[in-house]
Amino acid sequence: MTVIRGNIVTPDGVLEGGIVRLEGARIAEVLEAGAPAASVELDLGDGWVLPGFVDMHCHGGSGCDFMDATGEALATIAEFHGRHGTTSMLATTMTAPKAAIDAVLRAASDYIAAASPRGARLLGVHLEGPFISPKWPGAQNPDFIVPPRLDWLREWTEAYPSVVKQLTLAPETEGAIEMIRELARLGIVAAAGHTDATYDELVRAADAGLSQAVHTFNAMTPLHHRKPGVAGAVLTDPRIAAEAIADGVHLHPAVVKLLTQTKTADNLILITDAISAAGLEDGPYSLGGQEVTVKDGVARLTHGDSLAGSTLTMIDAFRFVVRLGLSVPEASRLASANAAKQLRRDDIGAIRPGAAADVVLLTADLDIVRVYRDGAAIA
Ligand code: FE
Repeated sequence: MTVIRGNIVTPDGVLEGGIVRLEGARIAEVLEAGAPAASVELDLGDGWVLPGFVDMHCHGGSGCDFMDATGEALATIAEFHGRHGTTSMLATTMTAPKAAIDAVLRAASDYIAAASPRGARLLGVHLEGPFISPKWPGAQNPDFIVPPRLDWLREWTEAYPSVVKQLTLAPETEGAIEMIRELARLGIVAAAGHTDATYDELVRAADAGLSQAVHTFNAMTPLHHRKPGVAGAVLTDPRIAAEAIADGVHLHPAVVKLLTQTKTADNLILITDAISAAGLEDGPYSLGGQEVTVKDGVARLTHGDSLAGSTLTMIDAFRFVVRLGLSVPEASRLASANAAKQLRRDDIGAIRPGAAADVVLLTADLDIVRVYRDGAAIA
């Protein structure tokens, strides 16, 4: 049993000086200040107790890439991001030969079944491609882009039941609307990304069940006042949750602010899009087989100038939006609850009795004191 006192961010507001009791893998009690409680083990004073962060879009960290497709790589990434506040994550693949994607699904499936106690929990896989637009590859290898293949999706979901949680595709490609319908039917998040769609095409995709936009504004048709593009549809359609890479590089701070002002508080989602270089020095790296150079913490394709993921962590994304002016509870929704809602997980992303004991403890200055996942300290 662990008893913590601090400013507790709950779905119904902040309990100042409240108490959270973790018992086993669950949150047992959430009490207001002054309520009688067993002896407090950790008193954070003016510090914060937040739900653990949920990262739907992460490629790697600490020298490993999910495309490595080994249990050890998965554990290394989960541990690295766990130290930075992430308690649940999706292993995100790159546009690659089908056999390489199969290998990640197999490794993730085995890893989830083994229920590793180390680091962040792996919720499943986010397939970023290969059904994307060759016009907006970003750091994805265009050689492996293919039109949507329903037969591949069927094979993946049958071989690895409930492992695929999100699929990013270009909704304007032939067969994409049928795939979006199928994803929606299966309860998999259908997301638009690396896409050349028009505004109208994106609205039609949302009609078919598309519910998310990947790294909004990056690798998609931009907002033009007579051609609102994918960006215009994401900003204005409440059915589409927007992912944002809040690192000060992928989006100008003013554009992050625009997103916080246009998307309602429950459909903006902070992601890292982190690559293997996260947590390491500047230098040469690889991202799903593509050569990448990291300079001043910014990752770009070595040949070309495209941004190639980030070296961001969830705690830094969280701090970034707080510095922009969001309150801690507002920022917390963007880092935890909104992703949990997209993934239809009511057991994570919120501090409430019965939920998973996934909590991030912060000082008043937003430094990490400790991170618990399933009640066990992972940082
Ligand atoms: Fe991407």
